[in-house]
Amino acid sequence: MSGGDLETDVLVVGAGNAAACAALSAHEHGARVLMIEAAPEDQRGGNSTYTGGMFRVVYNGLADVRALIPDLTDAELANVELDTYTEDQYFDDIGRLTQYRADPDLAETMIRQSLDTARWMQSKGVRFQLAYGVHGFKHGNRFKFWGGGAVQVWGGGAELVKAWHARLAREGIPVLYQTPALSLLCDDEGVKGVRARRLGKTLDVRAKSVILACGGFESNAEMRTRYLGPGWDLAKVRGTKYNTGGGINMALAIGAMPTGHWSGCHATEWDMNAPPFGDLSVGDSFQKHQYPFCIYINARGERFLDEGADFHTFTYARYGGEVLKQPGQFAWQVFDQKVTHLLREDYRIKRCTRVQADSFEALAQKLEGVDGRKFLETVAAYNAAPRPDVPFDPNVRDGLCTRGLAIDKSNWAQKLDQPPYHAYGVTCGITFTFGGLAINPRAEVLDTAERPIAGLYAAGELVGGLYYHNYGSGSGLVSGAVFGRIAGREAAAKPSADR
Ligand SMILES: Cc1cc2nc3c(=O)[nH]c(=O)nc-3n(C[C@H](O)[C@H](O)[C@H](O)COP(=O)(O)OP(=O)(O)OC[C@H]3O[C@@H](n4cnc5c(N)ncnc54)[C@H](O)[C@@H]3O)c2cc1C
Repeated sequence: MSGGDLETDVLVVGAGNAAACAALSAHEHGARVLMIEAAPEDQRGGNSTYTGGMFRVVYNGLADVRALIPDLTDAELANVELDTYTEDQYFDDIGRLTQYRADPDLAETMIRQSLDTARWMQSKGVRFQLAYGVHGFKHGNRFKFWGGGAVQVWGGGAELVKAWHARLAREGIPVLYQTPALSLLCDDEGVKGVRARRLGKTLDVRAKSVILACGGFESNAEMRTRYLGPGWDLAKVRGTKYNTGGGINMALAIGAMPTGHWSGCHATEWDMNAPPFGDLSVGDSFQKHQYPFCIYINARGERFLDEGADFHTFTYARYGGEVLKQPGQFAWQVFDQKVTHLLREDYRIKRCTRVQADSFEALAQKLEGVDGRKFLETVAAYNAAPRPDVPFDPNVRDGLCTRGLAIDKSNWAQKLDQPPYHAYGVTCGITFTFGGLAINPRAEVLDTAERPIAGLYAAGELVGGLYYHNYGSGSGLVSGAVFGRIAGREAAAKPSADR
């Protein structure tokens, strides 16, 4: 340390999931590690804190899940139906969801290392649980999990971040809060540290390697509009307000390669009266993901998408953007009583925009901003649409579809006929952005000639190339953990090997 400035082996920028994995991994490989974080300590953990903790990990059967969740009892397992989620299934999902654009090397690294990384996280104090009520419903006597979504971090993002910071403290890894990185220090040999701002003063942190793990640009209205397009400035932000694209911009400024779907993002249905940024007292409960069992109504009183196209885990990240395109950027999810028991706790929180009525005519009066006459026509047409004679089953794509509507509903298309009817007002909540920095499977940041920039690594949301168009829930934490762990190991090795 000299003249108020700092010096370390590995400097990690950010203090969320990817950053914690990077820091602990670098420490494990013998490096002195320092973390700097833009937020104050009481808002630490970035978007990772806001997560429900879904963790899309490969499991080849019960033994893998049991190893991750050792406290599962035989009695509990007797009520659970668990398929496998193999590497091949994971590849298929990523391929299909990204329209086969995902970087194959990054996807392969993430998928093949997902289970081992989860075990490594467990060794550092992170606990897992079955994702009851998220990707599995109790139908009949048993819970069935589908869509690769059986595993969740115990206690969600809040407990994940608590576990990480307990471990960082135990290993003696310092975190400087309220210290946003401003730019990278570099010369012809590569990156040598970061210029940051701490308590109103500029500070240089010199390091042999820098790992950027400081999120995407979802919280920056100007960058959203510039890259995602008009209207995206009007989206609410589901998580932290600190992910403003700083890490991406400072790397681009020294010649890093931008890659991935820069005009794409993960955005979901979010309570229309939620605050502009995430609120940790509510966490992710402003989300309203049970739309496969509703009909969606916009201001014109019309349906505008296929609510039952697939399990929500494979459509929710796209449908926020569809809501944003509607007049006034809002919509209502309308349910009847037959499916009330399937709705998650998120639909019962206090701060929920909800109306209820005994008839559609009365409900029409309460759907603020909606053309009530057209709404009544839409419900009547939906209820009258022909359906195949198949039973409703929330745990499979049941094929209970409408036929002959301008937009048919492909699954779970029961009639709405059991009052009282209830409706939930939603808008678009952005989760994170898809475009970012190009890295290789060693988490090295690449320049525009696709050569590694010496001393610079990246992990988590600011990495581009993994997600295009869509996303399967639970892969954000996995990608941050896998590449964070790799980045820490590589960054720790770099100083002695190359410099
Ligand atoms: C409501 C919600 C629910 C979600 N649910 C899930 C889920 O269940 N499963 C899942 O896999 N994913 C989920 N996600 C996505 C997930 O949050 C992200 O993919 C993941 O947490 C990203 O981790 P990260 O470490 O890259 O970023 P973050 O956790 O956001 O950490 C980035 C950190 O960098 C800091 N920072 C930003 N700029 C700077 C700077 N210039 N200098 C220093 N520090 C800076 C930020 O303050 C922040 O602490 C959810 C997201 C939200 C918002």
